[in-house]
Amino acid sequence: MNSVIRNINILYGAELELIEDHEIWFENGVISEIAPMSKEKSDYEIDGQDGYLIPGLIDLHVHVIWDGSEDPVSMTEKEGYEQMLMRAVSNGHHYLEHGITTVRDIGSIDDISIHVSKAIRRGVIKGPEIITSGKTLTMTGGHDPFWANFVDGKDAALKGVREQIYKGATVIKISASGGVYGRSEGESAGQSELSLEEMTIICDEAHKFGLDVASHAIGRESIKNSILAGVDTIEHGHYMDDELMDLMEEHKVAWNPTLFVYRQVAEHQGVPEYARKKAKDIVKIHDAAFKKYHKRDILIGAGSDAGSPGVSHHALKDEIYAMNETIQDNKETLKTATVTAGKILKREKGIILEGYEADLVILKDNPLENLEHLNTVQRVFARGESVFKIN
Ligand SMILES: [Zn+2]
Repeated sequence: MNSVIRNINILYGAELELIEDHEIWFENGVISEIAPMSKEKSDYEIDGQDGYLIPGLIDLHVHVIWDGSEDPVSMTEKEGYEQMLMRAVSNGHHYLEHGITTVRDIGSIDDISIHVSKAIRRGVIKGPEIITSGKTLTMTGGHDPFWANFVDGKDAALKGVREQIYKGATVIKISASGGVYGRSEGESAGQSELSLEEMTIICDEAHKFGLDVASHAIGRESIKNSILAGVDTIEHGHYMDDELMDLMEEHKVAWNPTLFVYRQVAEHQGVPEYARKKAKDIVKIHDAAFKKYHKRDILIGAGSDAGSPGVSHHALKDEIYAMNETIQDNKETLKTATVTAGKILKREKGIILEGYEADLVILKDNPLENLEHLNTVQRVFARGESVFKIN
């Protein structure tokens, strides 16, 4: 079955170039043709109502089981497994309604995200494509222990990464440093955790099987070790500096700074005090690093840490707004959640171009004029299937 969208303005190609008087055809979940208007018959014809067609949005850092309340860890402890699973499914629908057609979940209790991701892929339930690690590889007692597969030493690291791949992970997540939220005692954000040797083994094995490695890294030593170990993305990366940025460029490591979540943890009412205090200490450092390095020759992607304290499952837009305060260029900022995010995932995603996945969002208004127009979603297609339509 082929489909066509007519009467639409298209943000075309890797430069999000606005083109008019064209129509877009897709078949078997893939964009087949973008061509001048024709009268050719299709199996399914969609009237774009003179709206704006953008690539489906990509959030590179989420936690589908969390609820974005002030204290999601307590919530999951109270709810239990079955409710977490239901919530993850429901959050999947939420992403689609906001035009988010791909998410990367890098931390999930009992590998729930892997199960949800498989169900979506098999067509059992509707949702975004979820590229996910399931559990994270973490040292015993390290960052986010509640969803960790604890690994200590090189043999355990090798076993851990193989276990996650065996269960169906499509990306590997490691904790190179402590964090801000998750444990009320005994954790410091700048403290290095997994060693260079442990991380190197994990990266080598993941890459052997075609999986990328995402590293939670806040302190400078943890960022440096992650880069040298061969990770593909640095998550957060607060203490980025000149030497580290040179290394990022040299090793072609992408950066998902996740600015919004730390602001929320620092400012949002009701977030546990231990976390607010730690976030307050590093928010300024984080913002300064992003200001200083956002123009460097690396891929920078949008990740919201959705589900974290005070971070909704459509907070990708908040992350976009937070980045645009510095970037000050609607098109360049929009790329972090579309074109560049697709490149970071190394998949045919995030670009409206022949051969790319038909993840498509019709907006009423032009996001290049104002990024708030990302809130005017009319219709959403995920892998060519109509998954959301406004009443
Ligand atoms: Zn996270």
